[in-house]
Amino acid sequence: MDCDRCDQSAVMHAAYSGQHLCDTHFIQTVEKRVRRRIREDNLVPDDATPADPTRWIIGLSGGKDSVVLTQILQETFAEDPRIELVALSIHEGIEGYRDRSLAACETLTDTLDMRHETVSYAEELGVEMDDVVADDPENMAACAYCGVFRRDLLETHAERLDADLMLTGHNLDDEAETALMNVLEGDTQQMARHFDASIGPLDDGGDEAGPPAADRPATERTRHRQDHHVPRAKPLRDVPEKEVALYAQLRDLPMHHAECPHADESFRGEIQDLLLKLEENHPGTRHSIMAGYEELAAMAAGVYGDDDVEVDACERCGAPTARGVCRKCGLLDALGAA
Ligand code: SF4
Repeated sequence: MDCDRCDQSAVMHAAYSGQHLCDTHFIQTVEKRVRRRIREDNLVPDDATPADPTRWIIGLSGGKDSVVLTQILQETFAEDPRIELVALSIHEGIEGYRDRSLAACETLTDTLDMRHETVSYAEELGVEMDDVVADDPENMAACAYCGVFRRDLLETHAERLDADLMLTGHNLDDEAETALMNVLEGDTQQMARHFDASIGPLDDGGDEAGPPAADRPATERTRHRQDHHVPRAKPLRDVPEKEVALYAQLRDLPMHHAECPHADESFRGEIQDLLLKLEENHPGTRHSIMAGYEELAAMAAGVYGDDDVEVDACERCGAPTARGVCRKCGLLDALGAA
């Protein structure tokens, strides 16, 4: 089959759009979607200048998603003096897994000549995930501990690095899974948090203009750049996982393929299987889920907002929290590591 745009052989067929594309045109469409998302989410602030650039931290794990995101961001903004990019990797302490993925991170950032920082659970928190899994004082899945620790370190170090934005490599499948999980759990507050944390477009800082956020139609809602945490963004969220993998393969990017030995998100796994089946039988399902969910999440954010949530400092570590001791410190207590 030939490419729909030239006479080269197609390397992919996207059932949801009906398109057949050669490697060159496929690569262009991936990059175009990422750049469009950056524009639509208003990620480059109006007041960024070469003299006062905005600093973006990329969460780089060495897996295909974060590697593709890092490559595209660097190629997009390498010549733009308004944007500074720094890659940040986290070593969770998982034997035989993270060392290899960090090697891929080093290779990539060396090739791109990008600043790269690595922090570890061992040095920062006094725990390693292999030991956490063995102890498991809260009787939880490994990812439930690991997610809390990772969020904390990303946030702490994004602040240390004076970041204006934290970017992660979540793809369309990841986001559609999260959306469906929130809907199936009936968790409207979680939808509101999802919107405010990462999927709503950022405002331009001029919040005096226009009506209060809660009074705006859902399609016009934005999220504010807040004082107490670095905003997040997911520029890959319009690109299906398989296309991210194909892009990485066609560009021959350094990445680590193995799965974490502690991965155990059984509900997400079920949703993943369900979505794959739905997408196969009804191409475009992931896109339509996200189109409706974004509007729903914006409405939920309008109802709950996060302006009313009291944010205090954790009694132990000073991190922003709505309770006296933050979740990370609570878990470290349970692990006897605090
Ligand atoms: Fe941590 Fe779970 Fe990811 Fe493994 S799969 S690195 S335990 S969050």
